[in-house]
Amino acid sequence: MTKLTFYGGVGEIGGNKILLEDQDTRFLLDFGMSFSQNGMYFSEFHQPRKCNGLGDFYTTGLLPRLEGVYRLDYLEYDGYGIEERAVDGLLLSHAHADHAQYIHFLRCDIPLYMTPESLAILKTLEDTGSGSFNDLTSRKRTFCTRPKKRGDGFTRVKGSAASDPREINLVESGERFKVGDIEVTAFTVDHSLPGAASYLIHTSEGNVLYTGDLRFHGYRGDDTRRMVGAVADMGVDLMISEGTRIDSDEGDTEEYVRRESRKVVEDTDGLVAVNFPQRDADRLKTFQQVARDSGRKLVLGFKHAYMLEQLSQIGDYPGLDDPDLCFFADRKSWGLIGREDYPENIIEQDYRTWEREYLYMDNTVNYRDVKENQGDYLFYCNFYQLNELIDINPVPGSRFIRSLCEPFNEEMEIDEKRVTNWMELYGFGEPVQLHASGHAPGNQLAEMIETINPETLIPVHTENPQWFKNKHPNTKIVQREQTITL
Ligand SMILES: [Zn+2]
Ligand SMILES: [Zn+2]
Repeated sequence: MTKLTFYGGVGEIGGNKILLEDQDTRFLLDFGMSFSQNGMYFSEFHQPRKCNGLGDFYTTGLLPRLEGVYRLDYLEYDGYGIEERAVDGLLLSHAHADHAQYIHFLRCDIPLYMTPESLAILKTLEDTGSGSFNDLTSRKRTFCTRPKKRGDGFTRVKGSAASDPREINLVESGERFKVGDIEVTAFTVDHSLPGAASYLIHTSEGNVLYTGDLRFHGYRGDDTRRMVGAVADMGVDLMISEGTRIDSDEGDTEEYVRRESRKVVEDTDGLVAVNFPQRDADRLKTFQQVARDSGRKLVLGFKHAYMLEQLSQIGDYPGLDDPDLCFFADRKSWGLIGREDYPENIIEQDYRTWEREYLYMDNTVNYRDVKENQGDYLFYCNFYQLNELIDINPVPGSRFIRSLCEPFNEEMEIDEKRVTNWMELYGFGEPVQLHASGHAPGNQLAEMIETINPETLIPVHTENPQWFKNKHPNTKIVQREQTITL
């Protein structure tokens, strides 16, 4: 008997947490954060407390109460006692927070299966992020003490002494591997960040397909089409399909974003600032191309530098010495960057340790460089960097390209209003909206379901699971914590 229990990702977009059990094998499909559940109780500046271990997460329903899954340092601290490991692994579809964030809470002896690109992104998040719940590729032991080396008493275990690596198994597209006693085939698919995967799980009761998040209209749409063809040939008994954009018709493609952005940049003499999802390396390549075509350089941040250092080693992504790219040293802490009256070692202290090596590259720029030659740059500017524009002081007629999804909740609308205020402050005019979604629209999902033709269909990652009923006669709509038997 094969059982699937849905602990998240049903009736909502994201927060996927699915447990698959087949004979003696049990494993998780994703372990993501539910933005909607989190938003019920918390906001950007009011987050669950780390000091309460799993407590805040259990109480607010952010984490399911599962045995043998959670990290031992938290369990011990919470007084739950030691548990044996009760799952054989986790298949990660991709590194977006709504699929990967709660890996932080997992025991470090649970083997994680993911693509090399997903690992690169998780590592970037862990090493460059500032959040409290970023133990994604390792586990930093918390709430642990050790006897002092000198003198009496105890001290807190910290730093590298407290870091335990997670067991990570890299998977390639088309590769068949085993988790516990079950064979799984991985397929990379197109999505709005590198290394997204679908998994075909060969259970004792038949093949289960978990699509993860996907689309057909990015640069790697052929990967998704190949996955659909391959799994249709192998036969799918149960398909767990994403349905984020089932209500939408076909939208813009990555190619469209490139073409239209190029026109905007070529029509602008002053600065062009652009905001796009930080880890969407394909969008990054789109704007790299736009910069090249329009004779500018794309100015990225140090977090991009860290991510590209990893990604360029494993795939077709630009390296740090790419002639189309520059890297921007933000002005922060004492704000000494670009000052000649302070020595290097004092300036360096404005930056976190991982950032410091990027200060000395030939293509590192600061606000002075961008200010003096505004027409030479396409400047990556996310929400938190809008103040950098104060130092750059954009010349009249500068433009702002907004390459993000439209706001879909109240909080995002308030943020957007703030962006508009900044735009007015600099005389940017209306932001130019140019974006291609990370998700396939309804008609393409319908075609995919028809081609794969599964026995049973379970919609996840959608607010409108009913839609699937019109597309497949045997659609099962499941509730949170519900178990389905195959
Ligand atoms: Zn998602
Ligand atoms: Zn995603």
